[in-house]
Amino acid sequence: MGNAIDALKRHLGEVMDLQKALQLLSWDQSTMMPPGGSATRGAQFATLARVLHERFAGDETGRLLDAAAAETAAMAADSDEACLVRVVQIDWDKARRVPTELRAGMAEAEANGYGVWVQARAANDIEAYRPVLERHIELKQRYIELFPEAAEPWDALFDDYERGMTAAEVRVAFDRLKVGLKPLVAAIAANPEAVSDAVLRQRFPVAEQEACSRHLISDWGFSAESWRLDPTHHPFAASMAPTDIRLTTRYDEHDLGMSLGAAMHEMGHGLYEAGVDPALVRTPLCRGCSLALHESQSRLWENLVGASRAYWTYASPILRSTFPAQLGNVDDESLYRAVNRMQPSLIRVEADEVTYSLHIIIRFELEQEIFNGDLRAADIPEAWNAKMRDYLAIDVPEPSVGYMQDVHWATGGFGYFPTYALGNILSAQIWDRVLVDIPDLAARIERGEFDPLREWLRTHLHRHGRKFTPKETIRLVTGTDLDPEPYLRYLTAKVTGLYGAPVA
Ligand code: ZN
Repeated sequence: MGNAIDALKRHLGEVMDLQKALQLLSWDQSTMMPPGGSATRGAQFATLARVLHERFAGDETGRLLDAAAAETAAMAADSDEACLVRVVQIDWDKARRVPTELRAGMAEAEANGYGVWVQARAANDIEAYRPVLERHIELKQRYIELFPEAAEPWDALFDDYERGMTAAEVRVAFDRLKVGLKPLVAAIAANPEAVSDAVLRQRFPVAEQEACSRHLISDWGFSAESWRLDPTHHPFAASMAPTDIRLTTRYDEHDLGMSLGAAMHEMGHGLYEAGVDPALVRTPLCRGCSLALHESQSRLWENLVGASRAYWTYASPILRSTFPAQLGNVDDESLYRAVNRMQPSLIRVEADEVTYSLHIIIRFELEQEIFNGDLRAADIPEAWNAKMRDYLAIDVPEPSVGYMQDVHWATGGFGYFPTYALGNILSAQIWDRVLVDIPDLAARIERGEFDPLREWLRTHLHRHGRKFTPKETIRLVTGTDLDPEPYLRYLTAKVTGLYGAPVA
């Protein structure tokens, strides 16, 4: 290896150590920290974030990149080293473009926004919340101006999550999804009693739910010494290293489906991080490629595996033996149907497989209007309610379960919602591709053989980490570009089996 590349890697290794320390503080805050820790945690975050930014965005990174680029010029474009220089060069350029004062303003608005949102939501106070949105929109517009090369204003925000992807591309996929999902939503609405999840809504003690979650996701199999699972309010997965994965989940004594779904979802994220090539550890390439690709993995394990009939042939006996009093007499088919109950609802995070993407499309379309200058903060509530009626046939009774339901806009999270629905689309594309190589996948899942699937994903997706752009990575793993058709086919088959034929 060249001297300049080694020097760059040493420098980036320290940058990554700082970043992981920040992530660990954040994980700790959400899982272990006693309430008394919050007084000092903010300062600890701010200090580490500042040191991290100075260390990464400083001139030294640029000098090391230039020197390393001279060495990688002769290397294969897909070598780890050439990818590292290419990706980090863009990260560095973007990090330097944002003035410190704007960065600080956004951080402050995020922190303030959260507090105001909590109170405004509890009181359904539209007027108290409006200035929060106005402030975020104003700051984001200044951010957007720093990236004049974006074809549409919103693209500058989206690029931070799906580098190189645009609103125009998302719009094509979402417009198709809207048309395809509508008759499925109608089929569910026409036959709401066809599926019951009552068996999952008995009383299930938390300790046994936890044991059950651990059993199920352990069977997906990566080293037991490389991950842990802890309870939290809003589940997430974090990676300190491929051999140190922190999963979180949540429990409700009267909703077994929620904890199982959360554990499976986060394990999907965890498997992605665990599968990154160890050669990329302590570099900025050592993580999932993008949020959409990450979500493709959580959704694949949660839904394509965890909500499939084949899986419930395998998993039902485990549930019956863990909960003999509640589930001892419930057959496989009833459990399969219960985890797949669908119903249009107000709250995105409680939405089923079919309606989930419509919640996302609503946010995407509103964000377009906001940043194209066609929708003022004051008009968001009415615009939101109109779209909920149009897409989900639901009336929003009050803002707390309408546009105020998510913390994301309150903390400046504009430009990233589509990654959830893109993840759904990609999960089905990847699944179809896996089936070409493993045609008996369903039979294997019935027998509890998950290694072939996990290793396929590792070989074709996980190991690459962030070496390639999202679009390049999608091509690598699916052999094609973003395409909603496999997802629509998958959902149409599922809804037809559970609720009957789509209603035109
Ligand atoms: Zn997720």
